[in-house]
Amino acid sequence: MNSVRVKMNPRKKIALVAHDNKKEELLQWAKYNSETLKNHELYATGTTGKLISEALGVKIKRMMSGPVGGDQQLGAKIAEGKIDILIFFWDPLEPQPHDPDVKALLRIAVVWNIPVASNRASADFLISSQLFHSEYERNVIFNIGR
Ligand code: PGA
Repeated sequence: MNSVRVKMNPRKKIALVAHDNKKEELLQWAKYNSETLKNHELYATGTTGKLISEALGVKIKRMMSGPVGGDQQLGAKIAEGKIDILIFFWDPLEPQPHDPDVKALLRIAVVWNIPVASNRASADFLISSQLFHSEYERNVIFNIGR
């Protein structure tokens, strides 16, 4: 069993993603929490990032749009230790053309033990946690038997 410890600074690197039917919900959440989010480093898939950066007037590091590789880009960043938190409002009621990418993103977030919120209530709990604003060391365990 291998494990590594990954330090998360008080200023978090947060990835924001929303499927089309969930964009309005994420936008409302981001607006409600804009003062908090401004203290952190924001990443997003293409369209989600455009909407939020325009609405909040904040800088967001934008990946490609989700269906053409944005989810995979965020997944790679998680594996590189460059994303601390994933806020991903995925749509449970509509099939997505990039479903394998969605699954891969959610999977790699669990592998690297980063906090994930898939709906507004979870995102509310996450952002109001004391740990959201303080240093935290994640233990990442690779149970790969090698
Ligand atoms: P988008 O991608 O922000 O570019 O719409 C999100 C997704 O569908 O994964």
